[in-house]
Amino acid sequence: MTSLYRLLPSVDSILAYVSTEKTYGDLPRAFIRDLVNDFLEVCREEIRAGAVRDEQDLDPSRLKSRLEAYLKVQTRPHFRRVINATGVVIHTNLGRSILNKKAAQAVWESCLGYSNLEFSLDTGKRGSRYSHVEELLCRITGAEAGLVVNNNASAVLIILDTLAKGKEVVVSRGQLVEIGGSFRIPEVMAKSGAILKEVGATNRTHLKDYQAAINEQTGALLKVHTSNYRIIGFHKEVSLKELVVLGEKYGLPVIEDMGSGNFFDFAAHGYHFMVEPTVQQVVKDGVSVVSFSGDKLLGGPQAGIIVGKKEFIDQIKKNPMNRAIRIDKMTLAALESTLRFYLDPLVAMKEVPTLRMITMKAEEIKKEAHKLRSRIKRNLGQEVKLSILPAQSRVGGGAFPEQDLPTWLVGIKVMSLTCDQLKEKFLRTDPPLIGRIEDDFFCLDPRTISSDEYSLVCDVLKQALK
Ligand SMILES: *Cc1c(COP(=O)(O)O)cnc(C)c1O
Repeated sequence: MTSLYRLLPSVDSILAYVSTEKTYGDLPRAFIRDLVNDFLEVCREEIRAGAVRDEQDLDPSRLKSRLEAYLKVQTRPHFRRVINATGVVIHTNLGRSILNKKAAQAVWESCLGYSNLEFSLDTGKRGSRYSHVEELLCRITGAEAGLVVNNNASAVLIILDTLAKGKEVVVSRGQLVEIGGSFRIPEVMAKSGAILKEVGATNRTHLKDYQAAINEQTGALLKVHTSNYRIIGFHKEVSLKELVVLGEKYGLPVIEDMGSGNFFDFAAHGYHFMVEPTVQQVVKDGVSVVSFSGDKLLGGPQAGIIVGKKEFIDQIKKNPMNRAIRIDKMTLAALESTLRFYLDPLVAMKEVPTLRMITMKAEEIKKEAHKLRSRIKRNLGQEVKLSILPAQSRVGGGAFPEQDLPTWLVGIKVMSLTCDQLKEKFLRTDPPLIGRIEDDFFCLDPRTISSDEYSLVCDVLKQALK
């Protein structure tokens, strides 16, 4: 065993070899030295554990390729691109919405040069970062005013903090939701200093329940979109319109947390099965303020968008908390660019990747599935068994939770591997590919794979089978 240790090369000899390679050139030498030491420690551990017994396992060319693989893994960025083959369009774990190229270009420009972020080009004096998108938001939604913060969770927080701190906020028991990632409405309200006044039952809440809860402590009425679940069967919710009438009667603002707030009316564009109120409708129904995410159905960057009546938006703008949750310039650039597409809903449907993927017809996806299958077959013909399977994709992001979108999958089977083993291998490729298992096939859903990525998919598949 001691003789095996002696076969390991010295750190300096490895470094001399590594320094002739350009690949790790932009990382400091001291860091590479640490990694080489770590690598040798892994080798020693293998000898100690008896996993390496043979001199051949330590032969220089074998060690070299292992070292290279080790350094490649250790020096690549931790936060990386992946291929989303799951068919879940707004996949929260995979970064929710992806941006249109023009929006990405706007981000690029906003951070490579200086900008008029808080500078008025009309007066040559200080300006407001909120001015860049407020007009667009108002034009699209019909609201009087708007502002944008870091994400929707912070939007809800600042709305409650501004309009209902120390006061009671009436909300239906059926809407006390946990969105995931530990965002729970009751807990956010507690943080804001508003006092939760639950009314009704889990499945049914009536207007009279809200009415009975109103007293001199009441600060607002709140409606929460139950995003990620549906109550079916014997249930009742009070409509926003009814709440607005009640709010007006008692002089109380009516707040709505829309979650995924969309501008695009799916039902009106041929997707009659996808019925969700739009932000435009909520504004029209007279909401005081409504908030929603930028990176869910809207298909933009992470942001919390607040629109509504000017008297309330003005108060929210002045809340010092605003400074702690403000939106950054890159997000603003992406958001303005994304919002512009919505000036024409048909343009948005084509140009906003999230909308385009959601509205892809099954027939179109089937064609793509065949294209992808032929590509894979040409590249890996003998090694894999391929199949085209009908299935369902999901919108994700808590939007349309029960809505199946018909799709066609490319199923892959490799004789020597189980589906789970294949799935595991795809996590180690570069870039990693995330898919799903159905009918004993590892499946790729073309809904969320761009045709530009097909050659990458073939490449990744080769890596996985190596
Ligand atoms: C997603 C969601 C949130 C949180 O939005 P983020 O943009 O992720 O902060 C809040 N409320 C509802 C109803 C949601 O669906």
